[in-house]
Amino acid sequence: MTFRIGQGYDAHRFKSGDHVVLGGEKIPFDRGMAAHSDGDVALHALCDALLGAAGLGDIGRHFPDSDPAFSGIDSRVLLRKVVELLSEKGYEPVNVDLTVICQAPRLGGHIPAMCENIAADLGLTVDRVNVKATTTEKMGFEGRGEGISAQAVALLRAV
Ligand code: MG
Repeated sequence: MTFRIGQGYDAHRFKSGDHVVLGGEKIPFDRGMAAHSDGDVALHALCDALLGAAGLGDIGRHFPDSDPAFSGIDSRVLLRKVVELLSEKGYEPVNVDLTVICQAPRLGGHIPAMCENIAADLGLTVDRVNVKATTTEKMGFEGRGEGISAQAVALLRAV
């Protein structure tokens, strides 16, 4: 059986607003994310991990931020499109693991719902999806509250 692994990273800065979207969950907050899409860094990192594992480049190649079609788009739509691209190339996800890095908002209570969203979009049982959250103990741009970053790893198998 052929397995392939990929990793992804994304970061967005905060702007004025009243919520952020992470892992497909709308989380009330005193700022929003500056982005062409809904700014879901967790799903963007995951899309890049999945595309990377399949040798399909990156999210910017498939969904360019210069294209008005993707303005404000729900990143779950992009994630499901990535799953289609994987399928066309003969791959399906096995498991994924994400880390969201921010000083605030607190994410712990939202993680089960994020895992449910991602599992649904990937066609996986929820035990194959893991989301973690960490701070940086106030170091760096996440720690200063300038934005949020996310990292992801994805394993695919040939089908
Ligand atoms: Mg992004």
